[in-house]
Amino acid sequence: MSFYLHYIECMTQPIICRIALAIPLHKQFDYLLPDYLLKTEPNNLVGCRVRVPFGGKRQLIGVICEVNPKCDYAIDKLKKITQLIDQTPLLDKNIWSLLRWAAFYYQYAFGDVFQQALPSSLRQGKEAIFKGYEHWQLTANPFNLNDFKRAQKQQSALQILSESSLSNQQLSAQGISRPTLKALQEKGVIESVDKQPVSNLNWLAQFEESAQKPALTVEQAIAISCVNQQLEAFNCFLLEGITGSGKTEVYLNIIKPVLLAGKQALVIVPEIGLTPQTIKRFQARFNVPVYLKHSGLNPREQLDTWLHAKQGSGAIIIGTRSSIFCDFKNLGLIILDEEHDASFKQQDGFRYHARDFAIKRAALQKIPIILGSATPSLETLNNALQGKYQHLHLTERPGNAKPPTNSLINLAGLPLKSGLSPQLIELMKKHLDKNNQVILFLNRRGYAPVLMCHECGWLVKCGRCDAFYTYHKSANYLHCHHCASTLPVPHQCDDCGSTQLNSTGVGTEQLEETLNDLFPDHPTVRIDRDNTRKKESFNQYLTDINSGKYKILLGTQMLAKGHHFPDVTLVALIDVDGALFCNDYRASERLAQLFTQVSGRAGRAEKKGQVVLQTHHPEHSLLQDLINNGYFEFSRNALQERKLAQLPPSTFQALLRAESDNATLAENFLSLCQQILQQICINNNSLDKLLILGPIPASMERRAGKYRFQLLLQSEQRAVITQILHRALHAFDNLPEGRKVRWSIDVDPIDF
Ligand code: ADP
Ligand code: ZN
Ligand code: ZN
Repeated sequence: MSFYLHYIECMTQPIICRIALAIPLHKQFDYLLPDYLLKTEPNNLVGCRVRVPFGGKRQLIGVICEVNPKCDYAIDKLKKITQLIDQTPLLDKNIWSLLRWAAFYYQYAFGDVFQQALPSSLRQGKEAIFKGYEHWQLTANPFNLNDFKRAQKQQSALQILSESSLSNQQLSAQGISRPTLKALQEKGVIESVDKQPVSNLNWLAQFEESAQKPALTVEQAIAISCVNQQLEAFNCFLLEGITGSGKTEVYLNIIKPVLLAGKQALVIVPEIGLTPQTIKRFQARFNVPVYLKHSGLNPREQLDTWLHAKQGSGAIIIGTRSSIFCDFKNLGLIILDEEHDASFKQQDGFRYHARDFAIKRAALQKIPIILGSATPSLETLNNALQGKYQHLHLTERPGNAKPPTNSLINLAGLPLKSGLSPQLIELMKKHLDKNNQVILFLNRRGYAPVLMCHECGWLVKCGRCDAFYTYHKSANYLHCHHCASTLPVPHQCDDCGSTQLNSTGVGTEQLEETLNDLFPDHPTVRIDRDNTRKKESFNQYLTDINSGKYKILLGTQMLAKGHHFPDVTLVALIDVDGALFCNDYRASERLAQLFTQVSGRAGRAEKKGQVVLQTHHPEHSLLQDLINNGYFEFSRNALQERKLAQLPPSTFQALLRAESDNATLAENFLSLCQQILQQICINNNSLDKLLILGPIPASMERRAGKYRFQLLLQSEQRAVITQILHRALHAFDNLPEGRKVRWSIDVDPIDF
């Protein structure tokens, strides 16, 4: 063979790419690189997104994981990649290895993990570049505003645009629609231009810190200097600081030297929409670019934040759970605020925990991470007490703000008005008469949690769940809070035909009605998911509360999150008894966190606060502990109890869930999984290291029409669970019974 022919031969040697697709299968697929790409350096291909044919006519987005792997198929059977989307790997190698680890640890398909780590537009195969925004501006053509008198909208659009050019989104926020703009464009008075988003790579040169900042307390100063001396290495810090102790001030003082070193900071918070005040504090302190990442942004904005993090033009990124996946040019610090918050755990699909992910990431990138909370989770506390994390404390509120006093009201035998005891009503009057504000906390929205027949006791139950319908009076329907199904309010009992259907129990909607009757001179505002669906309405409520427009604030746990209301002096928890006798072992921890967070809203300024808790069980040890000793004592005791009961965090768990229209199918599948796991344990000689419990029905056995079962794995060693599950995964995948049910693995579950 001539040299030339040999050369051609090599050139056309097919290149196989192993590709992870975003489908929930624990395997990857082989494709051929199309001819025109054969010259590409194979090592540049790993980590690039591709479009590939899959099944019939479908095209899926995937990512190349390996080039020229050992392939079991005949090469001529392989399909070709349709399109190579990226010219260089999309993610930097830190994130890439982190996602690899996550797929392994959470037993989840890598292709799906990869996709979930991306902003939605990249998931759909769009290019990872900034795009211009359509902006509208006036043309040079003169016009007379009076000529537009008949077209009000057009007139106001012209007025607005006379001041500055604006994007579509900004205009629509001011009520200007696209047809209005188009009409003006036709008249030649405005035009659209493409504006590139500003990206400032050189923020360090202009760095400035606002002069408006408080003198630090001694505790704050100690915490700050402790972290700041160790910024160059991985360390996990737990900042355990009571509510209002100034944790945010600590964060700001740690971020400063990180920024001054030209590095970026990532701040992860539970829910951005609920804490606009915190965001403003970050933006006000430093004149560096701050970008947000949360689900309230449109896809374009999400991608922009992602790109700013990646190219380094975002100095601070503040985001919710998923911001942990942002690719950073030079990340120097991670802060995870309210680390105990359950929203950090994704509850479906890829069930990762953003806190654990963040710690892993910090370790990999050798940077510090700070977990902050007034009510640390028992997992984190355990690690801190064992010395795995450095433990920092803030035990006092700065200035004159004092922690509130706590007390219980025994409800037994008392006449209640929508759940309010006479004592509480008296107390409210006292506080309101002094022109202070009151928070009432009730974690149950709607008018009433059940509708019941007065004659025979029949209850209106959701047909698809083991749950009752909640009655929503103003919307006039029944609503299942578990499957979201609705039903018109029935007029008659299904059982006895009686028309006397009464609501039983109290929800926020009903309590609001009662409060309006009881306190007509002290306006009440209700804050729950039902009336704050729009982000703006929630912000407006916060503004109105702080301006004193409302005196009584009634809400669900949305009110508990980090807000600062200086005039609130009384906080009351209306009904928490349900959590005292719940069979979920985490219920007491959650109640303690909630109690502490809610009561933390009282007395945050000069005025002394008071917290009361209404209960039928004043003697309950959990309540006594909380009222008398606070979360600090409670949590240490709770850790001991968990240890004695061999529950997390002294052991580790994973949950296998299966659901189906047919209960037997779900249960059967899990029984087979149980046998597989047991066999692996026997083969490994590790039967004594892994406890397998079940299958048993989930705590709500039927939900949204599906029967739900679960199998619990527990071990004292995390690695035992990881490894045994990993070995079992392919066997699970291959069970034909698995195709008839929906099943999933939840590692470190927090919900049962
Ligand atoms: P946390 O996040 O711990 O609940 P914040 O950081 O919101 O507390 O602080 C509570 C309040 O105390 C805020 O109004 C904050 O401005 C104020 N604050 C924080 N540190 C100090 C300080 N050293 N001196 C005076 N006020 C402070
Ligand atoms: Zn009846
Ligand atoms: Zn339902």
